[in-house]
Amino acid sequence: MKVFKFGGASLKNEEAIRNVASIILSNTKENLWVVLSAMGSTTDALEKIIALGQTGKDFNSEINQLKEYHLAIAQHLFKEPEKINLTIHSLFDELKANVIRVGDYDFVYDQVIGYGEIISSTLVCHFLRQEGLDAEWVDARNLILTDSTFREGQVQWGETEKKIKEVYPHLKKHVITQGFIGYNEKKETVSLGREGSDYSAAILGYCLPAESVTIWKDVPGVMSADPKRIPDAVVFEELPYKETAEMTYYGASVIHPKTVKPLAMRNIPLLAKSFINPDLPGTKIHDCHIPNLPPLIVHKEDQCLISCKVTDYTYINEDHLGFIFQAIHQSGMHVNVMQNSAISFSFCVDYREHKVFKLIDLLSKKFEVFYNTGLLLITVKNYNSKTFNEYRALKGVILEQSSRAALQVLVKN
Ligand code: ASP
Ligand code: MG
Repeated sequence: MKVFKFGGASLKNEEAIRNVASIILSNTKENLWVVLSAMGSTTDALEKIIALGQTGKDFNSEINQLKEYHLAIAQHLFKEPEKINLTIHSLFDELKANVIRVGDYDFVYDQVIGYGEIISSTLVCHFLRQEGLDAEWVDARNLILTDSTFREGQVQWGETEKKIKEVYPHLKKHVITQGFIGYNEKKETVSLGREGSDYSAAILGYCLPAESVTIWKDVPGVMSADPKRIPDAVVFEELPYKETAEMTYYGASVIHPKTVKPLAMRNIPLLAKSFINPDLPGTKIHDCHIPNLPPLIVHKEDQCLISCKVTDYTYINEDHLGFIFQAIHQSGMHVNVMQNSAISFSFCVDYREHKVFKLIDLLSKKFEVFYNTGLLLITVKNYNSKTFNEYRALKGVILEQSSRAALQVLVKN
């Protein structure tokens, strides 16, 4: 039993979906569970629609545009598109009814956002059937149980595993399901956080348990750096779980940060492969030891550096730090790098405007607060002397820090 996951980029148009289907169809010897994201940038479009709907603005043109996009793809894929068209129309009606629901923003968000995945998985499942695969569509809103933390559901592992083990023997050999969503005890939809479909694949892989989980990407595997920034980046044949987990922590976007742990716990190999070139070997992430890994370079954009300066001629002490961390926690932010000096404490977070200003307000009660936005955080893991010198000497470095394992520089773009 294997799990495959395909992201939005691999499902963005007719041709892309045909390619995904051909990968699935050439891997049908064994049982397959296929986890799908929303098509293209559907999730971004839905976020916009939710924001409009929840502020009482008109969202009809946005929703029609999104519907047309799906209908046009169906028109090309299906020999007889009438039936799937009806399904798409009715899913959009459901979606629309949810956009104007009354309730907490994050709750409403989650009742809407998963329709991207529901629609894409329905469409692809029908297409696979047309192409001769006896595929079964399964609703992840009956499989992955979470708590009620909307937009960041915390998986209830025991219940989820029980449920999956219970239904698995009754399902067909090939299952098509959605990434990104689960449900809570009240049967409401709860999403797992943006880009969470990789994590869904890992949850299913853990619970089934699968022989392997493959994430199909638009790159040939896990690379030593983003090839768009560093053309001579290399593809790893294999990587240890731990190394991969750390890379994703620093911001490597190749795999969602929560994906590695469940698979490592059950020793299930995680494969990152190219959907553009499926014959390439890709990267196998598993329990292995690789001596002398080359430097791994991770770029994290859109960073904000916040500095808190004491105003009363004292020095930064543990009371101050306690206050600062409490405020960060309260604002739901996560520190990417931090540094202190005699009279100030600086830290860097992802720039989420709303949260950052809430945090600055809290900190301003006790400190003089300065901030810079639009920064780039570069982490060089396993640096050598060449990369160490090269990255520290970059133009515009405003903060640098190194440990035995990693060098981090924060750069003004
Ligand atoms: N469609 C969701 C998103 O764009 C989940 C995913 O693609 O992993 O965030
Ligand atoms: Mg995605």
